[in-house]
Amino acid sequence: MTQINEVTQLHTVDGVAVLAIDSPPVNALGAAVRRGLQDGLRAALADAAVRAVVIACAGRTFCAGADISEFDKPLAPPHLVELFASIDAAEKPVVAAIHGTALGGGLELALACHYRIAAVTAQLGLPEVALGLLPGGGGTQRAPRLVGVADALEIMVLGQPMSALIAQAKGLVDVLATEADLREDAVRYARRLADTDAPLRRTRDLATDLSGLEAASVVAEFTARNARLFKGFKAPLNIVKAVEAAAGLPFDQGIAREAELFDELMASRESAAQRHLFFAERAAAKIPGLAREAQALPVKSVAVIGAGTMGSGIATTFLNAGLPVTLVDRSPEALERAGAAISSTLRAAAAKGRITSEVGEAQLARLTTSAELSAVADADLVVEAVFEQLELKKAVFADLDHAAKPGAILASNTSFLDLNAIAAATSRPQDVVGLHFFAPANVMRLLEVVRGEQTSDAVLATAMGLGRRLKKVAVLSGVCDGFIANRLMARRGEAADRLILRGPMPRYVDKALTGFGFPMGVFAMLDLVGLDVVGWDRETSAGRTVQEVLCERGRWGQKQNGGYYDYDDQRRPSPSPVADEIIREFRTRQGVQPRCYADDEIIAELLYPVVNEGAKLLEEGVALRASDIDMALVAGYAWPTFTGGPMFWGDTVGLPKILAHLKAKQASGDAIAISPLLERLATTGGAFTGR
Ligand code: NAD
Repeated sequence: MTQINEVTQLHTVDGVAVLAIDSPPVNALGAAVRRGLQDGLRAALADAAVRAVVIACAGRTFCAGADISEFDKPLAPPHLVELFASIDAAEKPVVAAIHGTALGGGLELALACHYRIAAVTAQLGLPEVALGLLPGGGGTQRAPRLVGVADALEIMVLGQPMSALIAQAKGLVDVLATEADLREDAVRYARRLADTDAPLRRTRDLATDLSGLEAASVVAEFTARNARLFKGFKAPLNIVKAVEAAAGLPFDQGIAREAELFDELMASRESAAQRHLFFAERAAAKIPGLAREAQALPVKSVAVIGAGTMGSGIATTFLNAGLPVTLVDRSPEALERAGAAISSTLRAAAAKGRITSEVGEAQLARLTTSAELSAVADADLVVEAVFEQLELKKAVFADLDHAAKPGAILASNTSFLDLNAIAAATSRPQDVVGLHFFAPANVMRLLEVVRGEQTSDAVLATAMGLGRRLKKVAVLSGVCDGFIANRLMARRGEAADRLILRGPMPRYVDKALTGFGFPMGVFAMLDLVGLDVVGWDRETSAGRTVQEVLCERGRWGQKQNGGYYDYDDQRRPSPSPVADEIIREFRTRQGVQPRCYADDEIIAELLYPVVNEGAKLLEEGVALRASDIDMALVAGYAWPTFTGGPMFWGDTVGLPKILAHLKAKQASGDAIAISPLLERLATTGGAFTGR
């Protein structure tokens, strides 16, 4: 056995050299691993007793990918492309032995080997697209040669990992093994290759299944079928170009083209935004100052109070995570509706193959319903999702104080109310926390964890841990009206209401927002949710706003008579002459001379106030970091990923430009309070995020 360097060993058994990487936790392809591989390979090839080489990894996985701590830094040699070229060029067969997850650079390493053997449990993939990048270690040139143009596009543009079984069917893997025997099987396989003088199957020398010309039509069809993945993003387009190069150019030229396309992405705003969010998600989980000894409490059973829209979705989320749920509502009809909705969601997931039907049925069997609050007695966690009324919530929490067991976590899903006031209704405010889910709760990734004045560190640590368990992104927020996401987006809504009275009709405002990358415009969204349920009070409504007039006239959105738009029986929107007329009447009454707004002006009007509000959240300490705000809006409101979220986007727009716009608005009479933090950063060349 030879220790090649601190993370690599070489060990030869009967003519087969095993080059083993041991760089915990995931054998990432950092500088030491790259060097170890290069030197180890050189030593193995120089040893006349060695007839074949196996590259394998110790620990729980093959190389899981690039070393993220090297992101944005110049790479120490050897570069992946050179390392992989030397593997390719080896004069003895080189076999990759894959277990765990071979992702990104890890899979590219395997693709550069002459043969691949994988444990049946292994997962393989090229997910660089999620960071706005492409596989830059030759992956775009080797994958199409091994699996064909169509599959290579699918693997790299969708970026989803696949099982070893599927990888074998596609031609990415040659042989499967059990995980326990992988190393032995790999050695045996390598020896057989040597014994039988198997050809050195260099991926670079294989032809793609299609010529450049033929590939063009597959690419065109793929691009049209997946248009949604391309909108606003740069990486999918560059991946497509790289695959076209693989089909149309000799390997070395293709590699050069890949490098060009990779560098272009690395320098792009889109990839910078996506990488920012990658780190934002990891940062959000960390709460500075949390007592070290704050251990997360065990959560083995959950009760949800209120079986309405949110309660049903929240219950589904916990069931999906394998937890037993007791759903409580004082209305038996609500319980019945919720039960039906939950079972149809779980059965639909099984029908779509997302879970097996056994898993779906087992999850459903863990749901109990009750009309009595006493049913929460055994729950480790109680999540309240009754109507959004402070007095009601206080009463429910006062009752929970008696009904829930000592030490249970008492959470509220309130969207806007004062969590401290709710906690004060109990004798145990340290156990009270906000768990703010977004609708639909079993789909949207954001979980705002709201920290009350007295929330204990252990409860907070548990709540943040729940995020991971529920496969959501937990973002910490302090108590304020609307917390992070709703408070920010309220500014967008107010700006949109102002804007339709000044010029653009709702459809133009919505068009600018979808053009920016939101899946839906603000008015289409209001129509979908129902104008009557978002801030309309029938008792006090007096025709003061366009929304009030629409509601008074029975235009409640998609569900009744249309709202800002009219709808056909397929729920397809069209401009509404009635709504437009109401808006015109408001303009006339206010003496407004409407004018045209270009899309980028509309975006400035709507979204600069959001950036300003984000700055206020930071000043007030409601949000811990600008990146938390970005994460919250991306995961909770589908703020387009390729812009990086509002704060990152604000930085790329330029804070002086945003400040100047807001000042001009102020001067023209708009009631906008400019954040001192925004003003300071804008005038000192600062930024919210470390771009
Ligand atoms: P909903 O009207 O659909 O459901 C509320 C349910 O609570 C009803 O079934 C009602 O019977 C039940 N209920 C009322 N008082 C009760 C009591 N004392 N005991 C037991 N059950 C009681 O409301 P929703 O839209 O699900 O909203 C619930 C909470 O979630 C609110 O605080 C809301 O602000 C918040 N929220 C809503 C959304 C959303 O998009 N709807 C998103 C995030 C958060």
